[in-house]
Amino acid sequence: MVNHIVWVIFDSARYDCFEAAHTPAIDRIGRAQKRYSYASWTAPSHHTFLMGLPPHANEPGVLSSDAQRRDLSLWQTRIGGNRQDAITFADFAPTLSLPLFLRSLGYRTEAYVSMPVLNPKTLIAPHFDIFELMPVHNDLRAIIGRLNFDGGPRFMFINAGETHYPYALPGENAGDLPHIPGVHGVWRGMDEFVREPQASRGEGAADRFDVDRLRPLWNKQVQCIEYLDGVIGELIEMAPPDTWFMVTSDHGELFGEGGYFGHGPVMHEKVFEVFFVEGRNPRRNGGEIGRDELEATVLGRLKQLGYL
Ligand SMILES: [Zn+2]
Repeated sequence: MVNHIVWVIFDSARYDCFEAAHTPAIDRIGRAQKRYSYASWTAPSHHTFLMGLPPHANEPGVLSSDAQRRDLSLWQTRIGGNRQDAITFADFAPTLSLPLFLRSLGYRTEAYVSMPVLNPKTLIAPHFDIFELMPVHNDLRAIIGRLNFDGGPRFMFINAGETHYPYALPGENAGDLPHIPGVHGVWRGMDEFVREPQASRGEGAADRFDVDRLRPLWNKQVQCIEYLDGVIGELIEMAPPDTWFMVTSDHGELFGEGGYFGHGPVMHEKVFEVFFVEGRNPRRNGGEIGRDELEATVLGRLKQLGYL
């Protein structure tokens, strides 16, 4: 018996916004770690995830190949069951594809994404049994309403857009953004700005994108994370007990630091900082599993493999 695996990505959610948010449901899954995204925007970051590599720990003194071998080996803990052989890089070669690897183990692989840059015509889609772009970019609850865990093990890969600009909850739109006196001119032409921030930065733009003025948007992202946490709580209840959850972000967001807004063609620490949480469904065995037990599972596996 292997675990279902549900990987949910809160698009653009900053690490410090996650830290500030009240997230009782996600806290039940595991302890949030500060990790780093391999990329500063959605498409390459999700591509890396689908190579089996979650956000990295940025450990000094560790060979990158060793860190990646360890991260890949942890799929054994996520998958569970009684497989004896350690999972290695070779299991992912030559395709370097997490969905194809999981399909080889009998998983049905499904992706539900909110961002059009990940649409079903893109190169990350063909390795899934089902790959759907949702009709709206900000409705995780609609996605979990489509999930069905009947039958064999499932790999559910979900991209949630509530935390992406314009940080709108279902039913809200860009007009519901917090009013920021003096900078609403910034939002004129925002579509062009989001597509190409550097080209859209006119004279004085660095002054307009400052931290104090954009703080209401930072607060709005915190609010979106708290909303999504409630939906994750519903997901915990509907998913079978033998489900392994991963919840993370694909990259951060700049809210004025260094004169930047957004993500993508931005080189700044805050755009690479992300949160990462994983663990078994806390409903397993009819009750909440202690964090110590969760950590012992992962740490035990690392010791077995000689990394600790
Ligand atoms: Zn993204």
